[in-house]
Amino acid sequence: MKDRLSNKKEILSRYIINDIYPEEHIISLGRKCNSNCIYCINNAGKDSTEMLDLKTGKKIIDFIFTIPKDYYYIEFTGGEPFENFDVLFKLTDYAKNKAFLLNKDIHFSVVSNLIDLKPEYIKFIIRNNITICTSLDGPKHLHNKTRKSPYYKDTYSNTLKNLKKIIYYSKKGVIETPNIITTVTKYSLAYPKEIVDEYIKLNISRIQLGFLEPLGRAENLWKSIGYTYKDYLDFYFKAINYIIYLNIKKEIPVYEKGLLLLLRSVLTQNNSRHRAIDIANRLAYDCKGNIYPSDETRIIGEEKDFTFKILNVENNNFNSFIHNKKTILFLISNFQELINPLCSKCPYSFYCKITTHYSYICSGRIFGNMIDSERCQLFNKIFEFIFKKLEDKEIRKLFNIWIELYP
Ligand code: SF4
Repeated sequence: MKDRLSNKKEILSRYIINDIYPEEHIISLGRKCNSNCIYCINNAGKDSTEMLDLKTGKKIIDFIFTIPKDYYYIEFTGGEPFENFDVLFKLTDYAKNKAFLLNKDIHFSVVSNLIDLKPEYIKFIIRNNITICTSLDGPKHLHNKTRKSPYYKDTYSNTLKNLKKIIYYSKKGVIETPNIITTVTKYSLAYPKEIVDEYIKLNISRIQLGFLEPLGRAENLWKSIGYTYKDYLDFYFKAINYIIYLNIKKEIPVYEKGLLLLLRSVLTQNNSRHRAIDIANRLAYDCKGNIYPSDETRIIGEEKDFTFKILNVENNNFNSFIHNKKTILFLISNFQELINPLCSKCPYSFYCKITTHYSYICSGRIFGNMIDSERCQLFNKIFEFIFKKLEDKEIRKLFNIWIELYP
């Protein structure tokens, strides 16, 4: 480790951002949703009236195309984006035409709960080669407990049925493999193995076990659905050990996305692309056309706290954005290990993924004392776990295979 860090070139590669033109753009189509998940950080639901209109949507797309890139990745989120299908449909066409005229490449994803996948939605997904991002919280009893809907009693069965259709088309090579995430609540903690098995049943190799963010509805219900970092770690390490066992003993190729990102950070040098450098890599937009440095900060803005709002797309382009003082401040704030005296002393700070918004929601400050936070304790233990695992030759080999094989 000492030798690696004394290599000047390697250290520099962690801080030189070659490209400050964000590629990924997350656009909210509004907070209307056909579900009412207990942890929804968007506070979305059936009664929400905030929706993105086509005029504002087009201005967002116009702003995005002022960024000098050859390739753009646009993610539509919500609420449930298919609840605003007309705008989703027209905006996708608008962005595609614009990309065509400007000779640029573009790819779309839609974050959907897949509770209701109408035939016209499937046609739209295939026609535009859209990557679907969805949620599967575990076995039926668990999923239905956390992902409740006012319209559907058994959201698990609906989502599973529709997810199978998406997987079918992705196996045919018509669309990309879906990204699936499990949001871990207090109710999940007893089921690490069962949750992993849900992915295995679907023949999906990418598992993601997301730590609950204290935002939106999750913040309001934290006492009943939240947990301590120790509880989460107990769950997470059981799940990871099971995933390692499945790979090594059963030859079942599965990996956990969060762990893969940390491994890539630890085992490869040029990791700036994979760090949480919001602004340099991605931007988020609410349905009023306000621009934020990440989707989580967009959600903070939806709750009428505009600390992270940088600009509105109206009458602005990337040039005015990049010269805005807030843009520079938030870009710098990603490097806690350089600007936070306590983080700079931490041996894991090079690899750490503590984000500005987390610092803000925990301490009320952008440059908060992260060392006292639960998230800091959590990452410390995960890094200890990783370095311990790397001492085992067989596991180290497996981790290196994951880095080579998976995006
Ligand atoms: S988590 Fe997603 S599906 Fe659930 S209520 Fe929120 S926006 Fe809707």
